[in-house]
Amino acid sequence: MRNRLNFKIVGAGPTGTLLAIALSKLDLNIYLVDLLNREKLIAKDKTYAITHSTRKILVKFEIWEYLKPYLFGYDTLSISDSVISRSSILTIDDLDEDIRDVNKIGWVIKHSDLMNIFFQEIDKQANIYFSSNKKLLEEKIFFDYTFISNGNNPTQKEFFNFLDIRKKYNQSCLSFKVLIRGNSEKRAYGIFRNEGPLALLPLDNNLYQVIWTSNLAKSLDRLNADRNFLMDNLSTILPDHFKIDQIIGEVNAFPISLSLKLPKFNFNKLIFVGDSFHTFHPVGGLGLNTCWRDVDSIFDILNKYSHLNKINLKIFKFKYYFTRSTDILITIAFTDFLNTIFANKNPLLIPLKITAFMLLNKFLFIRKIVLNQMTKSIIFSNI
Ligand SMILES: Cc1cc2nc3c(=O)[nH]c(=O)nc-3n(C[C@H](O)[C@H](O)[C@H](O)COP(=O)(O)OP(=O)(O)OC[C@H]3O[C@@H](n4cnc5c(N)ncnc54)[C@H](O)[C@@H]3O)c2cc1C
Repeated sequence: MRNRLNFKIVGAGPTGTLLAIALSKLDLNIYLVDLLNREKLIAKDKTYAITHSTRKILVKFEIWEYLKPYLFGYDTLSISDSVISRSSILTIDDLDEDIRDVNKIGWVIKHSDLMNIFFQEIDKQANIYFSSNKKLLEEKIFFDYTFISNGNNPTQKEFFNFLDIRKKYNQSCLSFKVLIRGNSEKRAYGIFRNEGPLALLPLDNNLYQVIWTSNLAKSLDRLNADRNFLMDNLSTILPDHFKIDQIIGEVNAFPISLSLKLPKFNFNKLIFVGDSFHTFHPVGGLGLNTCWRDVDSIFDILNKYSHLNKINLKIFKFKYYFTRSTDILITIAFTDFLNTIFANKNPLLIPLKITAFMLLNKFLFIRKIVLNQMTKSIIFSNI
């Protein structure tokens, strides 16, 4: 029997854990490390919008069925612009035929439910070893490949030798849950405002996750404000039928950036995955979905080899960055375009915004392009 190759994954967030689960299907030893322990990794108060591209990936890695009880699906998506008072509602009928039968535009899941299921899956795999950086160092293992999935964190530049491209948005995001009175729709909302987009993601019939983008100073004021003030403030900008009962749990603030980290193209056996590779503006909720498409790509490339060996690994990096480039560049352009045009009160942009909503409301094929590109992504044009 040949010796298994040893792969190290640095960072056990949603990207690193899914990567470990995916790679465990190959005949490898997977060493997954994080600065946090399992309980802390699970306990984060975050929420993710899940797209059809992600459903396909999670079905492939046999996790979708386990997640189903924790997913809240929505069947309509309302997009509106508060500056020009225009709106459009996208429905199941706007989905392509290949995904329409699923009867959902997308899903929402809490970070804790997601990570609980991922760690249960990791427990089942005898070839995944989860530990701390320090403990792994003591074991003195030689790693055949290293995957950096440590999120949007500073990495030691001189050590990894990479090119870091960044755009600052001067925006920050407040994220919290609100209980709504008398709501029974399964609808997600994207509201463009001149301070930045506001997203409302349904977590249950009466529970919504608010992701409220604004400039840094305003976000900070709201973060430090009394909860009643925050609720009143939010009530004034929500759709009319939304009546907030209370804020549930913590109010968290997240920085926003657009970043792309590219390694020097040498034969170092190391790549970046997920947020450590790229981050986008949260408009559209595409961040994690794109991270998981990195994972899917890695699996597909490595799975093609009947006997994965050290020679195959030398060119793996080039294949990975090449395969991922189109999807990532389109997501960067799409999210940046939406934020630049719609989070903007420049009167010169008003005709463009009005035309965009007119096209969206009048033409089914435009609605289809927008919705299916967002949920399926370019790489899964036919799911
Ligand atoms: C407000 C907001 C809302 C969002 N909403 C959505 C959404 O609706 N849908 C969506 O798809 N995406 C969304 N995103 C994006 C999504 O949160 C990220 O894309 C996702 O968390 C990236 O996961 P990751 O595992 O790559 O990184 P992270 O979640 O940041 O995980 C990185 C891990 O690495 C660990 N780590 C750090 N340094 C080290 C080290 N030196 N050694 C070992 N471990 C280390 C950390 O402890 C952490 O566990 C949102 C982002 C924001 C800010």
